[in-house]
Amino acid sequence: MKNNEKEVDIKKCKKCGCELASDTRGNLCLNCKKKRVNFWGLVGKGTLAVASVVLFLGRVVLFVVTRGKKGL
Ligand SMILES: [Zn+2]
Repeated sequence: MKNNEKEVDIKKCKKCGCELASDTRGNLCLNCKKKRVNFWGLVGKGTLAVASVVLFLGRVVLFVVTRGKKGL
């Protein structure tokens, strides 16, 4: 690949490669920024779900272990 085309001062989105307005902050276009926010929102929710499952499993394991020690 050659990048020898005229060097124009156009920012491009890091993700989708679309042109950015010169006053855009960062390397992502609005769409990709929104997507990223959604992504992290989903990750947060997923983490919470996983955490609650882990907590639940931990309780079950503790329950089983304590029962086992009591010899029931
Ligand atoms: Zn983009």
